[in-house]
Amino acid sequence: MRKVLFEAHRGGGSIASRHQAPVGPEEPDESGKTAILARQAKRESAARTYARHLPIVPVRAEGMTVYGADGRVYLDCLAGAGTLALGHNHPVAIGAIRRVLDSGAPLHVLDLATPIKDEFTETLLGVLPRELAADARIQFCGPSGADAVEAALKLARTATGETGLIAFTGAYHGMTAATLAASGDTSVRIAARVSDAGVTRLPFPQDYRCPYGVGGEGGVRIATERLRRLLADPGSGLTPPAALLVEPVQGEGGVIPAPDDWLRAVREITRAHRIPLIADEVQTGLGRTGELWGVDHAGIAPDVMVLSKAIGGGLPLAVIVYRSSLDRWTEGAHAGTFRGHQLAMAAGTTTIKYVREHDLAARARKVGERLERALREAARQYPVVGDVRGRGLMLGLEVVYPDAAPDPLGARPAAPGLARRLRAAAFERGLLVELGGHHGAVLRLLPPLTITDAEADRVIGILTDALAQLSRDPRP
Ligand code: PMP
Repeated sequence: MRKVLFEAHRGGGSIASRHQAPVGPEEPDESGKTAILARQAKRESAARTYARHLPIVPVRAEGMTVYGADGRVYLDCLAGAGTLALGHNHPVAIGAIRRVLDSGAPLHVLDLATPIKDEFTETLLGVLPRELAADARIQFCGPSGADAVEAALKLARTATGETGLIAFTGAYHGMTAATLAASGDTSVRIAARVSDAGVTRLPFPQDYRCPYGVGGEGGVRIATERLRRLLADPGSGLTPPAALLVEPVQGEGGVIPAPDDWLRAVREITRAHRIPLIADEVQTGLGRTGELWGVDHAGIAPDVMVLSKAIGGGLPLAVIVYRSSLDRWTEGAHAGTFRGHQLAMAAGTTTIKYVREHDLAARARKVGERLERALREAARQYPVVGDVRGRGLMLGLEVVYPDAAPDPLGARPAAPGLARRLRAAAFERGLLVELGGHHGAVLRLLPPLTITDAEADRVIGILTDALAQLSRDPRP
């Protein structure tokens, strides 16, 4: 017999009351959950990630709430690694998917033209930075962010005839060979024997652990001059790059916003050297950072924008949008079977419209500030929090050893072990969060843009409680 879950959440418009007769696989109970997790551990590869630290079996979800098979309820600050701008199962996205399903439209069309794709393209171009959208081309990619970054790199190489790439420390662009080469973390790249030949890696400026040991405006100035002089100096030894690839806010790298002045300088310098500037907005796009696009903070328009995650309304979708002058591709230069995901385009169209019409970027900014203020307050109280940073609803909290000596800029050593315990303490209290950062010591918050004030307060309550527990016993 099918088990009725979540008795405690019935009524009041709750998800349980709207799912009296669930369809799909049998919903497991506590012992079923344990069995599923055991089978997963036995059958899935050792590369599994989130599943290791968040041992839940989600069976339903709504907004920011995820219901586990064991009857437990979780607040989701992971939101599909920043994918679910409107949270789980938002009626607007679900409605769009239903309409396509009911319409009899083909769901699989490779790269053929359809009214659904036409509307998606029109909607997306209508909200992108005008300078780029005015004369842009779009390429639908295989639906992962990594495939779109790969496409952007191929496009730039074809257009410039060069092979080199300027990328940054701490960057994350995906798990394919070229995107691993462009990413900062070496562990996977080295283990997979992926070459990063041709990649010139420059330090990504940041205040807290300034790569130049200076911090503040001085660090930004050095980072700017480093790039300017490297490109101007005929004796620098630099392989002429096909592109410069940058995230407006590094996400996996530990939630590090690119300083606006630096990003503006990067735009000016790359333009002067005719180097295509690729903005990887896979995670920052569609309101996440408090502006519609991450590059909006600096007020720049890149030559190529890489978009995925939120633009599919929760379903897989990835595109690059680029200046038409770069379109030196010939037929089939970038292909992929799953470029025509109609359900994702329909869900994406309504999601983009909803984000725009409800100004969820402003909402992200406002709730983000509320969360950031509270986290800073917690940092004052609990010295295991070394730094709080981010933009909008892309926030990070760096965990440090509170008793270790600080470096000359005042930053104590990162404490990945403590960060893992903080994640576990948050999980025990029903909060789903993940870690990132150079040392894996940054707790990252990526809630849906639809998070309510009350939910934000609950996130803070749980984190403060978890920090109090950690601070009572801050052993590594
Ligand atoms: N670029 C950025 C900035 C990302 O954050 C990610 C994913 N976290 C990717 C690229 C890769 O996207 P995907 O996992 O869909 O390949």
